[in-house]
Amino acid sequence: MILDMHAHHEPRMLGTREMVRKLDAAGVARVVLIPTMLDPLPRTPEGALRLLRVLLQRDWGRPLAEVAHRATLGSRGTLRLGWRRYAIDAQPDNASVAQAVQAHPDRFWGWIFLNPRGPSEPLEELERWRHVPGMVGVKLHPHWHDYRTSALHPILGRCEQLRLPVLVHLGFGRRGDYVELAARFPKLRLIAAHAGFPHFQRLWAHRARAPNLHVDLSSPYLDEALVRAAVAAMGPERCLYGTDAPYGFHEPDGSYDYAAIRGWVERLPVTEAGRARVLSENFLELVDGVRR
Ligand SMILES: [Zn+2]
Repeated sequence: MILDMHAHHEPRMLGTREMVRKLDAAGVARVVLIPTMLDPLPRTPEGALRLLRVLLQRDWGRPLAEVAHRATLGSRGTLRLGWRRYAIDAQPDNASVAQAVQAHPDRFWGWIFLNPRGPSEPLEELERWRHVPGMVGVKLHPHWHDYRTSALHPILGRCEQLRLPVLVHLGFGRRGDYVELAARFPKLRLIAAHAGFPHFQRLWAHRARAPNLHVDLSSPYLDEALVRAAVAAMGPERCLYGTDAPYGFHEPDGSYDYAAIRGWVERLPVTEAGRARVLSENFLELVDGVRR
C-alpha cells in the first residue's frame, strides 16, 4: 500500500476530483492533506534548490541560507519573492481539508493546521477539528509562521497526551529547536518535514536521543542523494513517504507528477520490508489509536 502523508489541499492547482484520478493512476491509496497557507507560488528553479541544498549541508553555508530566508519574510506575514508579495495565511483553513476528507473518506485524511501566534486560539482550533473522523494529526510551520518552537509547548503537550502525530516544518535556530522539543516531549510522535529541513544531517545525528523523531521524504527541497542519506542515517523505520503535492514535481502538462519521489523510494537500497514501512506502515503505526 502507498500512503502519501504530506500533501497540500490546493484546489487552485489540483482539484479534489482531479487529485483522486491522479492517485488512481499512480496507485496511491491514500493522501493526508494539509490546508494551503499561501497563494500558489511560482516554481523555484532547480538551480536555486540545488544551491540551497549545498548551503544547508555546510556549516559555513547555513547562516547564508538563513539570511536569504529572512530576506523573503516581509512584515505582517508576507513572503517576498522578487517583486511580488504573497500573503501567508496565519490560520490556514482547516474546514477546507475536513470537507475533502468527508467527501472522500476512503482516499483522504487531514492534518489540522495550528499556529500558536493566532488568530485562532490553537487549542480551541484543535478541539474543533480533532473529533472529525479522518483528521489524524497536527501540522505546524514555524519556518513561515515565524515563531520560536518554545511557543509550541501547550500544543505539543496536548498532542502527546492525545497521541496525535505532529508534522512540523522546522525553521532555523530557535524556530526549529528539535533538540529541546524531543527532550521535553519524549513520547510525542514528531515528524520533521522534508527530511528535517533546514537541519538535515544535524537532526539525523540526534536520532538516538529522540526515539519518536521521524522525517518525511517530501518535496524538491530534497533530491535522491539527500533522501538516501536520510534513510541511511535514520533507518527506514523512521522515514515516511510524502510528496508535497501539488507543489514541486510536474508532468509536461503541468499536473502533479507522482512518479518522481516514488522513484527515489523504489530505488532505495533497503529490504522490501523496509520499503513497505516507508511507503505506508510507519505512518499507519503513528496514527494507531487516532480516531479515523
Ligand atoms: Zn508541504
